[in-house]
Amino acid sequence: MELDPDEVLIMDSGRLPITYQEGKLRSINGRLYLTNKRLVFEPSRFQSIVGSFQLSTGSGTGYVEIPLESIESVEKGFMAHIKVRAGGREYSFKGMRGAGRWVASIEEAIHSAESTEGAARSAGERPAMRYCPYCGSPVNPDDIYCSNCGRKLPKA
Ligand SMILES: [Zn+2]
Repeated sequence: MELDPDEVLIMDSGRLPITYQEGKLRSINGRLYLTNKRLVFEPSRFQSIVGSFQLSTGSGTGYVEIPLESIESVEKGFMAHIKVRAGGREYSFKGMRGAGRWVASIEEAIHSAESTEGAARSAGERPAMRYCPYCGSPVNPDDIYCSNCGRKLPKA
């Protein structure tokens, strides 16, 4: 698996027999990664993910790729099992050592991805603060007259 330049690996299941399952027919072994952007399931070397079923996500890469922003819910199932609902699909990962920790880490990664995005968005969109030169009241960038003292404002 290759990471993007600004992508950070948070968790890696290691070479344990993790089973990925989608629906009843799709079941395959491999390895699960959590990054600050996505969940990635990499099938083990001797299993052809493309041969056994058509990939719905990350097609062409041979991976199952679940972007964090598409994840609607994550829960711990019985035993070492986590369930992820994303983009209207349900994915199951079985044989997860530390399943509870995985669920917590996935939730944390989703929240921090959301807050990073939100912070970047508001910083980028925030207009420069403007004040009336006569009375010092804050004014909107496109105001012509000061709403406090009524004087005509200089052009921004
Ligand atoms: Zn004013």
